[in-house]
Amino acid sequence: MKTSEVLADLRMRFPNEPEYHQAVEEVLASIEDVYNEHPEFERMNLIERLCIPDRIFAFRVSWVDDSGRVRNNMGYRVQHNNAIGPYKGGIRFHSSVNLSILKFLAFEQTFKNSLTTLAMGGAKGGSDFSPRGKSNMEIMHFCQAFIAELWRQIGPDTDVPAGDIGVGAREVGFMYGYYKKMAREFTGTFTGKGLTFGGSLIRPEATGYGNCYFLLNMLATRGIDIKGKRVAISGSGNVATYTAKKLLELGAKVVSMSDSNGTIIARDGLTREQFEYIFDLKTYMRGRLSEVTDTFPDLEYHPNERPWKLVQCDIAMPSATQNELDGSDADALLASGCFAVSEGANMPSTPEAVHKFIEARILYAPGKAANAGGVATSGLEMAQNSQKLSWTAEEVDRRLSDIMKNIHEQCVRYGRQDDGFVNYVRGANIAGFMKVAEAMMAQGIL
Ligand code: NDP
Repeated sequence: MKTSEVLADLRMRFPNEPEYHQAVEEVLASIEDVYNEHPEFERMNLIERLCIPDRIFAFRVSWVDDSGRVRNNMGYRVQHNNAIGPYKGGIRFHSSVNLSILKFLAFEQTFKNSLTTLAMGGAKGGSDFSPRGKSNMEIMHFCQAFIAELWRQIGPDTDVPAGDIGVGAREVGFMYGYYKKMAREFTGTFTGKGLTFGGSLIRPEATGYGNCYFLLNMLATRGIDIKGKRVAISGSGNVATYTAKKLLELGAKVVSMSDSNGTIIARDGLTREQFEYIFDLKTYMRGRLSEVTDTFPDLEYHPNERPWKLVQCDIAMPSATQNELDGSDADALLASGCFAVSEGANMPSTPEAVHKFIEARILYAPGKAANAGGVATSGLEMAQNSQKLSWTAEEVDRRLSDIMKNIHEQCVRYGRQDDGFVNYVRGANIAGFMKVAEAMMAQGIL
């Protein structure tokens, strides 16, 4: 396999899908050597079968808004690969959603799910519908119309969706409710469900907490204590807020949070009171960060800015969206003394930024390893659903922490270079790839 040839072919067959090409390029570059050590993979054209999704559903979602106007959005589900378990991956509702973004996310999800050691294949879905500014009723009608199209394609042993950007407990509840009505069964077909109908304790916290656990494992390889370290976070949604919560518990200083309109800077670190205010504002009141300085004038608000150039930090945890940290942001972080980057979002750093982090030999964890705690805990939710019981928060948290330790070990095993430096990108990609590749080889050409 020559990475450049495979990529050129994918670019020609699937033009105008830059995020998908970017994700494939990163993985292929790191697995090329290992792939070429297995001529049997090439004989079965494994790489093309692994890069191109098994199937994609695309559909119109028509719904009626509160003023009686008929609205149309597009809905998608990309079922990428189910070699090691049922398709599994979140649903994203955001105006930017298109097939390129969902194909990149489903591709990444396949490797991430493999890394968790649980039996889950990779998928992703979503719509260009934006829940922001919509009433509860509008969101419910949209979710029902979305599932009216999708319900036949999903199921507890077929494809298990979850949340992502724009899809939290409320949206999962509406989608699961309608799925249950159409399928006439009560099974664990969604994860991220409410606690009263099969949800798991710690699932809301899992991606952010898991990222902190991964970070602790990375810091331990260099004997660094997290206490007192300055951490810049982007985003203020599910992943970002629970990352901040755990960091405060661990004694770190959270020096930034952001949303799609701007960034809050806390030069001395957010106090617990300030964090709780932001958590409530973003989680329950659906407010904007621009409102925070009305209550806390000692915090700074920077409209239309991302955190990376605004404040000195030791650690960066990008937790908003893809390609939100570019080469010049990486330069600014490195110049400010940042020695670790652990990604809560999927592919938040551009290839140029990733290259700079690795060249500078800092601790750099790609999202598919560092944010895998969310889907891992979804796997634990599926296990509890099939046994029809619920584990305690302590039990789920302990398992999450063990899984993140295991993912870190796999990254180190496959990513340690001769000079001792751990390339976590290479480690995560090879570890995730080998398991899926072996399963695909054993199952024949499908
Ligand atoms: P949420 O919708 O809860 O929060 C997203 C946050 O990012 C919000 O603060 C949002 O701002 C901000 N944001 C979204 N789009 C942009 C943009 N284009 N520019 C700047 N800011 C933006 O999503 P999650 O926290 O669930 O997801 C965040 C990231 O983590 C995504 O990349 C997702 O794929 C990834 N992830 C999520 C997992 C999960 O369990 N939820 C699991 C693994 C990865 P605003 O408030 O203005 O909308």
